[in-house]
Amino acid sequence: MRLGCHISISKGFPKAVENAHKLGCEAFQFFTKNPRGFKGKSADPEAAAQGRALMAEYGLVAVAHAPYITNLSTPDPELQAISIASLKQDLENAEAYGAIGCVCHMGKHVGEGEAYGMARMVETLNRLLEAYTGPCQLLLENTAGQGTELGTRLEELMEVRSRVEQPERIGFCFDTCHGFAAGMYRPEEWEDFVAHARSIGYWDHLKAVHLNDSKFDHGSRKDRHANLGKGFIGEAGIARLLRSGAFEGLPVVLETPVKDEAEYGPEIEYARSLLQ
Ligand SMILES: [Zn+2]
Ligand SMILES: [Zn+2]
Repeated sequence: MRLGCHISISKGFPKAVENAHKLGCEAFQFFTKNPRGFKGKSADPEAAAQGRALMAEYGLVAVAHAPYITNLSTPDPELQAISIASLKQDLENAEAYGAIGCVCHMGKHVGEGEAYGMARMVETLNRLLEAYTGPCQLLLENTAGQGTELGTRLEELMEVRSRVEQPERIGFCFDTCHGFAAGMYRPEEWEDFVAHARSIGYWDHLKAVHLNDSKFDHGSRKDRHANLGKGFIGEAGIARLLRSGAFEGLPVVLETPVKDEAEYGPEIEYARSLLQ
């Protein structure tokens, strides 16, 4: 696996690559644009090329993340159109920056019911993949199940993928905090969970992992990340996940709470120490 963390690109993409390298990352994640707004900037081709050259030099792999504001299942036609335009730009930016894919959360049905939320999400994805025809994959992330979030079961993620017109353009990102909070697995059952995920084909399309501990207990459906070993998954739990071999070959990035990005350096080292 390639360990790393989330890195800010507020000071430009090349600087983000430098920061990731300094912190000891083998992979890193970045927001494609300001996470608080839809209207982000397109990637600057020069900065993107510079960043990609640095990534090659340092042997770094990048994972892009779309802003959280996007809802793939929104019933509002105007919001749906805005979401599609925004995600198209996210995928274009991710491609420009040389990311392996762009992570996006599963939709929220906002009271319309799960069946509606799923159908609407499939429709939105079909329109998005018609608008964006480049090579960057969209990586659907499992959710903790807060409010009306879809994506608390792997079968649901698989269903969305199989229902879209171009499933080969959809991959997955697994968040260990979300999965635990959603009640998908307990650390003691991790190997059985992975075996099940492999048997339904989910692992074949898994492209990235978010490695986070959870501030709330199994099944709480609360999306609150904790630092590794400091939450309800715990040190033994995180160690078990890391040592299982399930993340082999994948970028594994921390999105744990830090006041300063520099704190990720020791936490990545800690994760490496748990592998021994
Ligand atoms: Zn995540
Ligand atoms: Zn989260």
